[in-house]
Amino acid sequence: MPKEVSDRIAAGEVVERPASIVKELLENSIDAGADDVAVELMDGGKTLIRVTDNGSGISGEDLRLAFMRHATSKISGFDDIQNIRSYGFRGEALSSIASVSRVEVITRMPDSHAGTRIVVENAEVIELGETGAPPGTSVAVSRLFAAVPARRKFLRSDSAEQGHCLEAITRIALARKELRVKVTANGKNALHIPRTENISERVALVLGADFARHCLPLRGERGGLRISGLVSQPGFTRANGKAIMFYVNGRFVRDTLLHHAVNSAYRKIIESGRYPLAVVFLELPPGEVDVNVHPAKTEVRFSNPSAVYEFLRASAIDSVSRILPGAQEHDRVYTLYRASSQEGGTGRGGAGAVQENGEIFHAPPRFSPRALEKMDLAGLMKAVEDKRLSQLEASPAGGRAGYFSSLQYIGQFAGTYLIFSGPDGLVMIDQHAAHERIVFEKLRAGSRDRKLGSQSLLIPEVVNLSVQDTERVLSAAAALNAMGFEIEAFGEASVAVRSVPAIIGEINIADVVSNLAAHISETGKPAETEEWRDNIFAFLACRAAIKANREMSEQEIDALCRDLDSIPFASNCPHGRPVFVCFSRREIEKMFRRA
Ligand code: ADP
Ligand code: MG
Repeated sequence: MPKEVSDRIAAGEVVERPASIVKELLENSIDAGADDVAVELMDGGKTLIRVTDNGSGISGEDLRLAFMRHATSKISGFDDIQNIRSYGFRGEALSSIASVSRVEVITRMPDSHAGTRIVVENAEVIELGETGAPPGTSVAVSRLFAAVPARRKFLRSDSAEQGHCLEAITRIALARKELRVKVTANGKNALHIPRTENISERVALVLGADFARHCLPLRGERGGLRISGLVSQPGFTRANGKAIMFYVNGRFVRDTLLHHAVNSAYRKIIESGRYPLAVVFLELPPGEVDVNVHPAKTEVRFSNPSAVYEFLRASAIDSVSRILPGAQEHDRVYTLYRASSQEGGTGRGGAGAVQENGEIFHAPPRFSPRALEKMDLAGLMKAVEDKRLSQLEASPAGGRAGYFSSLQYIGQFAGTYLIFSGPDGLVMIDQHAAHERIVFEKLRAGSRDRKLGSQSLLIPEVVNLSVQDTERVLSAAAALNAMGFEIEAFGEASVAVRSVPAIIGEINIADVVSNLAAHISETGKPAETEEWRDNIFAFLACRAAIKANREMSEQEIDALCRDLDSIPFASNCPHGRPVFVCFSRREIEKMFRRA
């Protein structure tokens, strides 16, 4: 195969579109220590991409080398690969780009008296010589795919390509607060990311200012693995998972495992089909992560993926569980008549959120944009936490402890909703959702502490199932046993249930076991994961919970409130519906036009 052809094939892996070139050039600038970069785009980068930096520059001798495949100044031996901190290390980008375009580099090292200029087109060096130049490097890419018209045809409209370029730039900049980037498109300012201590502003740039106001801090450290970042509050979600972003050792990556870990933390608290937003930074020793799996390097491989998964998931659950009832000012859900909201009932400055078409819109800024601007990531995380703590302390119930028990019971509405008068207003609890949450949390905690007692049935109950379902249930017998179920084979098409988890009380065993079978067939093999257990627990909780349309005694209500006080996550049921809502006195007064 002629070298020209093999180069072009290699280029296909790195150079897909203008945005991939922008990404490689910007990363090279950062690797060269630049903290000020200008990007010029013409026609979405199809006509010209120029990246100019204030980095270390390239020496005259090295400039030609930089265009050779596998020429990299960033590694010299295999050991280095294990310890990569820079973006580049394959030495493929410049050669690949130059095999499908015209590349002009003008560069000068700050200490040299003269600069160097090189022009390479379709892998041939056309010009090379000394030139006057400012310190740093400027790389201009033009005539992209001129010699490969088939590739050019795959490019989208100028504005679409420009969008991709800007996205690539913001993604990189998000993790680099010391970097200043200015982008012009066809001579006009397109984006300016100032150098700032402020990551939250960058987060706002990429995920929107609303996210910055509805996020929770994410933090964790275990072994060599450090997790930091922001995840959205459960009420603030999107219809797809695109707003979940990961950086591993400062490098943007796509990783389904990480994605899954964050999503699963929300599984039982937001509606299915909705996704959280998240910016997650993972730091781990370079030896524990392999970044050398994909030419464009947005994929990684962890040496211990399940440890990373479990820890990320646990950290995210921890963040989300900080939504506390005493902090409901933050996450209250209420419904008002449209008419009153037009009167300003829920208008600007109003607290709380409006439920509308099943979507929950959250309260306006908790932090003024000015305050936000001044904060860096750590500051924002601390501020979110402090705010929540102060809300807790400010609550007359003395914070979270005993919040529900302190409420004064007024009565039941529609056989389903318990109405209370509380320190911060009128509280309504959905009795089924609340009880479901309680049973779920007890099952989860019991399983975690390996203290899930079981209650034996006086007479084992035989449940008739199909042959396949019998097999399914038996295949999960060990996992179910750990939950407190004792289930044995009983002929080909039935099982005998000898005991059930103590927590779930009176249930229709036949109904539960046959549904378990359906669950197992849906969720596949019962892996011994927390997630699989959570699924089963959510189902059990729903079955075991007090149904709507049932009157409750005062003792039962007391017990329910005490239980609600004792669990995390009290604000949503395992299916993501709210457990309780609260109308502040002010809101009620507004409804009656008193305020
Ligand atoms: P890699 O980044 O994987 O090393 P590249 O093909 O992207 O490979 O770049 C090849 C080499 O060219 C780099 O190792 C570096 O020495 C040099 N280089 C590229 N861009 C710059 C730049 N903007 N400033 C300084 N040196 C650069
Ligand atoms: Mg590179």
